[in-house]
Amino acid sequence: MARALLTIDLDAIIANWRALDALSGAKVATAAVLKADAYGLGAERVGPALRAAGVRSFFVALAEEGAALRRAVGSGPEIFILSGPMPGDAPLLRAHDLIPCLNSASQILEFAREFPGGEAAIQVDSGMNRLGLEAAELAEVASLLQAIRPTLVFSHLACADEPGHPLNAAQHEAFAAIARAVPTARRSLAATGGILLGPDFHFELTRAGVGLYGGHPFAAARPVLRLALPVIQVRDVDPGEVVGYGGAWRAERPTRVATLAAGYADGLLRNLGFGEVRLFAGRHACPMIGRVSMDLLTVDVTDLPEVPERLEILNEHQTVNQLATAAGTIGYEILTSLGARYERVYKSSAPVPDPE
Ligand SMILES: *Cc1c(COP(=O)(O)O)cnc(C)c1O
Repeated sequence: MARALLTIDLDAIIANWRALDALSGAKVATAAVLKADAYGLGAERVGPALRAAGVRSFFVALAEEGAALRRAVGSGPEIFILSGPMPGDAPLLRAHDLIPCLNSASQILEFAREFPGGEAAIQVDSGMNRLGLEAAELAEVASLLQAIRPTLVFSHLACADEPGHPLNAAQHEAFAAIARAVPTARRSLAATGGILLGPDFHFELTRAGVGLYGGHPFAAARPVLRLALPVIQVRDVDPGEVVGYGGAWRAERPTRVATLAAGYADGLLRNLGFGEVRLFAGRHACPMIGRVSMDLLTVDVTDLPEVPERLEILNEHQTVNQLATAAGTIGYEILTSLGARYERVYKSSAPVPDPE
């Protein structure tokens, strides 16, 4: 029996980027965030597809990710390293033309020493208190900014997926004020959620991440994933019999149970077994039953006229957002948990050109 099949729709990712890009003005650039291997979907394929569609700026978390992305997209686009330069990163940054995000006064000091005149992004804190310089800290190192080329000043919103949250306006105000200390740089505040907050939040560059991959809060996103799990056994269970670990599910009627070859080791989180999850045969939905095992899960297929070779757990009817809700988590975690054992197929109508 074939492995589980994960189909990644590159055309949908491109359509989502275009849709997010269209939400901001013509003078605002929309960067693509491909950290954690493009949220688990494969930066090596997602990167070139987005570059061909017109993306000129990418963000990843680590220098190693930047180096891999550079090899995939060629020399044209700029690649920012969000987590900043780590000890020993300098050769990678140089060799692959990566732009580090400098997140502290000491990082600015070291970068000015090691890369005089070098291009860098400056991350400032506008209220999230995760990474970035506070206004006072930035003022202390203002003279050092002359020694480097700050190409971007940016900050990150903590509550952008809640449009009514007062922190959004507060962070906007704080960011606009702090950014004045780096007048030559482009400004960026919005990730996916911030793009949806409206033009005030867009400044010169936005950083689209989860929305590209079909995740909340970009409700208008085109679904990107189809995940089909092989049925490896079907059995009949009598009323009163249980299915799976803990005997957590008990049959109330004569039930046909299909056992599928994927489990929490493949990113189908064990908590899915506590929510409402459906497996699809075409449009027909069958409830997942019992606990999710490491390599297996079980489905009530009693009402199917015929059990197909595979059942779908992700498609246009049940997206990463619904799976996230069922598991009590967020789409980001479903995406980045997608397993290494799936056979991955990339759907694309466009031939991918050679790197520039
Ligand atoms: C992950 C990340 C993004 C992208 O956020 P999404 O919510 O996925 O769009 C943008 N900026 C920073 C600093 C990030 O860490």
